[in-house]
Amino acid sequence: MEFSSTAFVDDAHSTVSQTFATQKTKPLSWRIEQLRKTWWMLEDNKERIAEALFRDLNKHKHESLSFDMSGIQAACLEALDGLSEWTADDRPNRTDAFNFFGGARVRKEPKGVALVISAWNFPFMELFEPMLGAIAAGCSVILKPSELAPASQELIEEIVPLYLDQTAIRVVTAGPKEMDYLLEKHWDHIFFTGSTVVGKIIYAKAAAQLTTVTLELGGRGPAIVSANADIDLAAKRIAWAKVLNAGQVCIGVNHVFVDPSVKPQFLSALAKYLDQFLPQTDGRPPYYSRVVSERNFNRLEGLLEKTSGKVIYGGDRDVKTCYFAPTVVDGVLPSDSLMTEELFGPILPILDMTLDEAVSYTASHDHPLAIYGFTSSEAEKQKILNETSSGGVTFNDCLLHMAAAKGAPFGGVGGSGTGAYHGIYGFKEFTHLRTVVTVPGWFEMLVKFRYMPYTDSNAAAMVKFTGPVTKVPFDRNGQTTGLWARLWSTFF
Ligand code: NAD
Repeated sequence: MEFSSTAFVDDAHSTVSQTFATQKTKPLSWRIEQLRKTWWMLEDNKERIAEALFRDLNKHKHESLSFDMSGIQAACLEALDGLSEWTADDRPNRTDAFNFFGGARVRKEPKGVALVISAWNFPFMELFEPMLGAIAAGCSVILKPSELAPASQELIEEIVPLYLDQTAIRVVTAGPKEMDYLLEKHWDHIFFTGSTVVGKIIYAKAAAQLTTVTLELGGRGPAIVSANADIDLAAKRIAWAKVLNAGQVCIGVNHVFVDPSVKPQFLSALAKYLDQFLPQTDGRPPYYSRVVSERNFNRLEGLLEKTSGKVIYGGDRDVKTCYFAPTVVDGVLPSDSLMTEELFGPILPILDMTLDEAVSYTASHDHPLAIYGFTSSEAEKQKILNETSSGGVTFNDCLLHMAAAKGAPFGGVGGSGTGAYHGIYGFKEFTHLRTVVTVPGWFEMLVKFRYMPYTDSNAAAMVKFTGPVTKVPFDRNGQTTGLWARLWSTFF
C-alpha cells in the first residue's frame, strides 16, 4: 500500500501550521462553515461510505448508518448548536473585587495544530468526530485514517479535500513505519484512537515535545450478570453487542462473568438470541461483519486454540474470507489464554463468578473502557460503581452510555485511555483555557503594598489582600468547630 510521501507530509504540516498562524481558523464563521460542510460531506456520500465499510469489514448499512454516518452528523449539529456557548469567555468569581475591576476572564483558545489518528473499526466516526472538536475549538488539523480499512481511507482522502478547507484540514496516510516521521513533527495536540500498545508509543512521542494527548484506547470490558438480573434480557443484549461489527467494538463485551446459579438459563438464552440474530439456514448472513484482517483472524484463532474452556456455540470460521462466527466458550478460568489480552473479536468467554468475585477480579486489573452490570439490585449496582473504575458504565444493557447518552463524555481511564470527547468534551480537548486580566491604573492605590522594600504593615496588607481569613470553621484534627458542631457532638 502506498502512503503519503514525506514531501506530502511536510507540505500538509507546514500548510496547516501556517494557516493556523494567520488566525484563519479562529473566527466562528470559519468554524461554522467547516462544521456545516462536514455535515454535507457525510450526507452527500452516505452510499459511498456504506460501500467502503462493506468492502473493509462487510459491515451492513444498518450498522454504518448509526455510527459512521448519522452519528457524526448529529455530532456536527450538536457542535453548531453549542458553538457560541462553548467558545464564550468564562467570567470567574465576579463577586471578587479584583476579578470584577480587572475584568478577569477565561478565554477558550485553540491549542493550535492538531493530529487526529484513528482506528479501523469505525473508520469515519473515529476520525471525523474528534475532528469536529478540533474545528469547534479553532484548531487546524491533520487527519490520519487507519490503513487497515483501505477502502474507507481512500474515500476519506478523496472527499475531505472536496468539502473542507485544504489550507487548514488535510488528510495524510501512513502505516506504523511512516508514523515515526509524522510524529517527529510538532503538534499542539494529538488525539489518538487505537490500541493500548500503540497508545503508549504515541504518549511517549508526545511527551518528548510536551504535546498534550487524548488517548482513546481499548480494554477488556466485562459484562457482569448477577443472580438478580433479568437473565433473558441480559443474554439478548450481550448477544447483540457481540454480533455488532463481529465484536470489533472498543466498548464491546470482552467476557462475561455470570453467577453460577443462573448460568444454564443465561447460556440457553444466549444461544437462542445468537440463532435469532444470525440464522444459520443461509450460512453466513450478509449483515455480519468480517474480522478486519488475516492477522487479527490468526490472533483470535491462536487464542481460541489455546483455551482450556469449551466451545459451546459457534466456532465456524474461514481464514480466506475472515469470517469468524460468534463463538461462546464456557468454563473459562481467569488464567485462560482468552483472558490474556483484549479480544476485540467475536469470541465470548464465559466465567463462573458471583458478582462479588467479578467485581474483585475487575478491580484488580487495568480499568476497562466499559463495564456492563446486569442486576436489578441497587446495592449490587453501587458495589460495582464503588469498587471498580472504568471509562463508563451501562447497567442492564450494553454500549449505550457511549452511543445513546446525549451531552455525556466518552473516554477511558488509566489503561483504557485519558481524556474524553463527544460534544463539548471534544471541544475541550483541543482548547487551552487562557486567563486574562486587565489591571486599571487606579488599582495602584489598592495594591501598592506589594512593592519593596518589604515592611510588616505591607506584609499584613498583602495577607489581607490574598486571603483575609483569620478564623476557620475547623480544628487541627480536621473536625468542624463552632457552636452547632459542638452541640451536635454532645447530643449525638
Ligand atoms: P492500532 O493501535 O493498531 O492502530 C491505531 C492507529 O495507530 C492506526 O491509525 C495506525 O496506523 C496507527 N499505528 C499503528 N502502529 C503504530 C505505531 N507503531 N506508531 C504510531 N502509530 C501507529 O489499533 P487498531 O488495531 O487500529 O484498533 C484496535 C484498537 O483500538 C483496540 O484496542 C480498540 O479497543 C481500540 N479502539 C478504541 C476506541 C476508543 O474509542 N476508545 C475506538 C476504537 C478502537
